[in-house]
Amino acid sequence: MFSVHFLPTAANFCSQTQNLGNCRGPDTQYPLGRFDIPTTENNPNGEIPTDSLWYTAVYFKYGFTQNLNSTRSPTYFVKFDNNSNKWSCTCPDFPRRERLGTCCKHIQGCIDLRAGFNRFNDDRYLTLLGNHLTEVTEEEYNNMMAE
Ligand SMILES: [Zn+2]
Repeated sequence: MFSVHFLPTAANFCSQTQNLGNCRGPDTQYPLGRFDIPTTENNPNGEIPTDSLWYTAVYFKYGFTQNLNSTRSPTYFVKFDNNSNKWSCTCPDFPRRERLGTCCKHIQGCIDLRAGFNRFNDDRYLTLLGNHLTEVTEEEYNNMMAE
């Protein structure tokens, strides 16, 4: 087994507080605790929800503690549509993923969080997801989307 803590490629979810607000440096500068959440999984994948779901997703790259003061901390909106049976996300990466029939890291994060799937065998992973992904009601989702 390879160590998921020392990924050679750029991971897409930091988990170190020293990266707070700035994790765009080289891997050698931030060698620890990066998670590479798959973005090539089918949409949907895993257990398909029986009802529609709505989530907010705080920008993933700011590490374990959310940087609430950062102007680079947008919130994305993730939805599972029970009619189309597909997940969607408002992040800039998702349109390209959608054309490929895959999902973005925010969607995959919601799927992992719902399943309690500790993908990296690292206790921080599900806590990180819980800190960044919040399930909301349809009304809350619609209100935030309208802002
Ligand atoms: Zn996304």
